[in-house]
Amino acid sequence: MVEGCIFCGIADLRVPAELLYQDHLLVAFRDIKPVAPVHILIVPKKHIADVRDLGDIDAEMLGKVFEVAALLAKQEGIADSGFRLVVNTGPDAGQTVGHIHFHLLGGREMGWPPG
Ligand code: AMP
Repeated sequence: MVEGCIFCGIADLRVPAELLYQDHLLVAFRDIKPVAPVHILIVPKKHIADVRDLGDIDAEMLGKVFEVAALLAKQEGIADSGFRLVVNTGPDAGQTVGHIHFHLLGGREMGWPPG
């Protein structure tokens, strides 16, 4: 847990969020500023700043992220229409929160390449 980290606060249930999933490794909640009809953040409970700080020890958590993404996509009715799982990393990618998180986006057609 890192003092002042908003996603640590949500993972600890100290900061309110619309939680959709939680287990010993992850929480998932709705993004406060959705950019698609379905916009959920999947966030590890452990504080990891971004992709560059991941290690072998995080393999179980990463596997779980994909399992939970597929589960939530089904739950939200976007499994058949399709969805994106996005991890912004660093300034060029527009990362604004320094605690790794996976955006699950769906419910509308999306362009490629991304902006
Ligand atoms: P990123 O720009 O990839 O770092 O994504 C950070 C995301 O966190 C943005 O989409 C924000 O809207 C979202 N966000 C920030 N604070 C909160 C919060 N308290 N509850 C839910 N989503 C949040």
